[in-house]
Amino acid sequence: MNEMKYHLKCPCCRKGETLSDGRAKVTLSVRCEKCHQFYLADLDSLITRRALPQRRRGRP
Ligand SMILES: [Zn+2]
Repeated sequence: MNEMKYHLKCPCCRKGETLSDGRAKVTLSVRCEKCHQFYLADLDSLITRRALPQRRRGRP
């Protein structure tokens, strides 16, 4: 069983967190289970930042 050694905390409430067992050049869009805010979790730099909810495809 892989150990989830990377814990990326929610930038909004610092309570919810996303766990990962490795690093990669990907960014996850996560909805915090604690405060229900959306945030981005960068699994390469291990930085989280607030994000607006992803809208459906459309013109900016
Ligand atoms: Zn949160």
